[in-house]
Order: sequence, then structure tokens, then C-alpha cells
Amino acid sequence: MDMNFTPEEVIFRNEARSFLADRLPDALAAKVKGGKRLGKADYELWHDRLKKRGWLAWHWPAEHGGTGWTPIEKHIFEEECVAAGAPRVVPFGLNMLGPVLIKFGSDEQRSHYLPRILNGDDWWCQGYSEPGSGSDLASLKTKAVRDGDHYVVNGQKTWTTLGHFADWIFCLVRTDSDCKPQEGISFLLIDMKTPGITVQPIITLDGEHEVNEVFFEDVRVPVGNLVGEENKGWTYAKYLLTYERTGIAGVAFAKSGLAHLKQVASRQMKGGKPLAQDPLFATRVAQVEIDLMAMETFNLRIVSAAQHGGVPGVESSMLKIKGTEIRQEITDLLRRALGPYAAPFVPEALDAGYNEPPIGPDEANPVASQYFNMRKVSIYGGSNEIQKNIVAKMMLGL
Ligand SMILES: Cc1cc2nc3c(=O)[nH]c(=O)nc-3n(C[C@H](O)[C@H](O)[C@H](O)COP(=O)(O)OP(=O)(O)OC[C@H]3O[C@@H](n4cnc5c(N)ncnc54)[C@H](O)[C@@H]3O)c2cc1C
Repeated sequence: MDMNFTPEEVIFRNEARSFLADRLPDALAAKVKGGKRLGKADYELWHDRLKKRGWLAWHWPAEHGGTGWTPIEKHIFEEECVAAGAPRVVPFGLNMLGPVLIKFGSDEQRSHYLPRILNGDDWWCQGYSEPGSGSDLASLKTKAVRDGDHYVVNGQKTWTTLGHFADWIFCLVRTDSDCKPQEGISFLLIDMKTPGITVQPIITLDGEHEVNEVFFEDVRVPVGNLVGEENKGWTYAKYLLTYERTGIAGVAFAKSGLAHLKQVASRQMKGGKPLAQDPLFATRVAQVEIDLMAMETFNLRIVSAAQHGGVPGVESSMLKIKGTEIRQEITDLLRRALGPYAAPFVPEALDAGYNEPPIGPDEANPVASQYFNMRKVSIYGGSNEIQKNIVAKMMLGL
């Protein structure tokens, strides 16, 4: 594998850099880099700037308003965005539902929903998990019963990320119970304003409101909101998951986290010397850096294979496991580097404009919150234990 970018890719990277230097507001980049809390307006602003440049829908073909980028161009752009401090693009409409509608939706669904996702008119959330149906997703129980030209939906979804911001939810629902669990599931698009829907917050370990429970009580959904065929939803759901796991290794995030960790460790003192020179601490930093370098190379191999038409299989699971372990280790080391200053829980300090004197160094403010928040990465998108089962079965033949 040639590790160098082609001249065209270098030109693309320079274009991406100058776009970010020009269009990413300094205040927004400072919020992202400082670990401040982002509001819906922050995401909307960045969404709008990307849209105006035509760089919003990385995973859509150009004919539907997407970038039509190659896997390497996507990789380059993601690296540059993270390095510049751009907010992540909220993935549910753009990276998850969009590709499903492009492949399996009707012409009417594509022409109605895709432009609205691009314009930021509709915010989507993902209604897959239920209490008792996470890893064992096919056991889901939320029921949709046909009544004339509507489905009547009853049940509950949980862990619904940003459901409190969303206008629409794409849901897996049970339309048949007298068959194998996977064969009785359908994929429905539901307007969150429909009577009978209640959204309740779940406050996570870090004290933040990011996820929700969504309850459905006799919710009437037009039959036209079914994607593809009734009872074929499992196929579409799995296709969507391949996009959910795209980039899940988070190499760019880990690289920027490691660089930050090294800076903090060079400023924090232990026994009259910078912590970075403490042999025990330095060993752990070196270990995570070695793991990260190995993972980056592995990730590039997969990106390179995808460039030539390869479809990542078990490799996505390996990247998910290693990538999330590395990101968790970095937040753990950051917490240790800041010692007692990482302990205070001051959620208001994450609001931009908070100007109370910090208890310790300014950079300590978001650390406890980030440490707790990062626990989620080994759970969502298919827990790491489930990924290990996949590796054991598909790669090791166990
Ligand atoms: C922050 C966050 C955001 C999320 N956002 C969304 C969202 O927007 N939409 C959505 O639909 N879902 C979302 N999820 C849900 C996520 O997909 C599930 O939490 C995940 O699939 C695990 O399911 P569970 O929580 O029911 O745990 P369970 O499946 O009950 O698992 C509990 C534990 O048992 C282990 N386990 C389970 N089965 C096995 C097995 N066969 N072998 C070995 N170990 C096993 C798991 O690894 C885990 O450690 C989110 C979750 C989190 C934490």
C-alpha cells in the first residue's frame, strides 16, 4: 500500500484546509476544542456552511446532492475537520437515513425527504433500541398494526440520541409476530409531532441530556411512510448500520485527543518535573500512541481497500473495538494528568461565556464530563462484546 496521497488528494486536502480556515467560525472551533456544550444552533450553523459549499452529504452520490467523494477524500476531510475543531455533522438524517432512502426508498420518499435533510428542514433521530432489545435488536416489540391507510404504533424506544431536537424518527417496528423475529420487522418514518408521542429525557453519567426515551401510544402513521416492503425492515436496518459504523474507529478524534493529552502532561508537574517525564505516565502515553499508530495504519488499509471497491466486514468490528478502547484510555489518562482538578463537577462551566474562575487549570473543566461521556463509545453502534463475538466467529472461526 502506498501511504502517500496522490497529487490530486493533496490538492483536495489543501482545499479542505482553506475552506475550514475561511468558513469555520473561530468561536465555534474554540467551543469544540475547549469541550464546551454545543446547542442545536451550533450544529445548524456548521451544517449550513457545509451545505453552501456542497460538502454536507459525504455518503450520498452527487445526483442526490451529495459530494460523491471517494473513501480517501472522506477520510481526508474528516481528519481536517477534527484538526480544525469543526463540530461533528449530526449523522441520523445525513449519514444513516439518507443512504437507506437512496437505496430502498420510493421516488416520492427520495424527492420529499432528501432535500429536506440537506436543507436542515428536518432533524432525524434513530428509533432502533428498546428496553430489553439492544444487542438482541431483533427481539424488539414496538408494534405497528395496519388500520386502513395507516399503521397504529404502540411501544417504546430508548437511548434515542438527540430525540429532543428531532422533527422525525426512523423506527424499526414489529409488523408480524408469527415468524422468525428478523422477518417481522418494518422500517417506518414517523413525524415526532404526531399525537401519542412522548419524549422523556435520560440524564447520563456526565449529567448531560443527550439521550431520551420515546413512547408511542396509538400513534397513527400513514402507510406511505413505510420504507421498502413490509416485514423487510431488518435488511434496511442492517444496511443502515454499515453506515453507522463508518468511521467508528475515530482515528482523527484520538489523534487530536492524544496531542492535547501530551500538552497537558507537559504543563502538569509531578515531583518538580513535568508529568510527561514521569516514567510510569510516559509509558502509558507511549503505549496508547503505539496502539493508535497501528490502528491508523490498519484504518488506512481499509480505506484504501474501499477505494478499490472492497467492503469492510469483520474489520469494522476490529476498528470499533480498538478505536473505542484507545479513546477511552486517552480520556482516562487526561483525567489522571489533571489529578484532583479533574474531579469537580461543574456542568455550567461547559456553557460558552461561563466566566467564573476555574477551580484548577481551565483545561480541567470538561475532563470529568468527557471521561464519563466517553464510556458510551464502547456501548453504542453495537457493544464491544458483541463486536468481539463477531470477530471470534468470522475471523477466528470459533
Ligand atoms: C449514549 C448512547 C446513545 C445511543 N443512541 C442510540 C440511538 O440514537 N438510537 C438507538 O436506537 N439506540 C441508541 N443507543 C443504544 C445502543 O445501541 C445500545 O445501548 C446497545 O446496542 C446495547 O444494548 P443495551 O443497552 O440494551 O445493552 P444489552 O444488550 O442489554 O447488553 C448489556 C451488556 O451485556 C453485553 N452482552 C449482551 N449480549 C451479549 C452477548 N451475546 N455476548 C456477550 N455480551 C453480551 C453487552 O455487551 C453489554 O455489556 C445508544 C446507547 C448509548 C449508550
